[in-house]
Amino acid sequence: MPVERTSGPSELVQVFEKLNARYFNNSLKATLEWSSRMLVIAGNCNWERGVIRLSKAYHTEYPDKIEATMLHEMLHLALKRGHDARFREAAAALGVPLRAKGRAQHRPYLYVYACPNCGRSVRRRRKGVWACGTCGKGRYYEKYRLRLVQYLT
Ligand SMILES: [Zn+2]
Ligand SMILES: [Zn+2]
Repeated sequence: MPVERTSGPSELVQVFEKLNARYFNNSLKATLEWSSRMLVIAGNCNWERGVIRLSKAYHTEYPDKIEATMLHEMLHLALKRGHDARFREAAAALGVPLRAKGRAQHRPYLYVYACPNCGRSVRRRRKGVWACGTCGKGRYYEKYRLRLVQYLT
């Protein structure tokens, strides 16, 4: 059931309460959290449990988007629904973006590959088979297959 009072990191509580007063007549309460595992979305809301999580990675990259993300998640909390027609209508009325702009960093680069022909190196997030696009002029040639030359850990 909904939480008794709003809690969480002070910087999030501050934004929450400001928006709560401005848009929701101070009617909302939530447990606010930073998520360090949330990498491809800006935030989420579990309206059953009254929990709003914001991506640490995303907002480290886009600190000016905290308010927009919070308002978006608060709308989920207030309406207790996902992105259906009614949500979209309410979001448009409040000027709430439906989608976060940009994306948080994906997984870090872990591997360095190099072309055995020209020596050009590229960083990759996963292991795989690629050929040098420069030497092969965009086509795959086994002789230009990139070799794993370094692990970045
Ligand atoms: Zn949403
Ligand atoms: Zn090459």
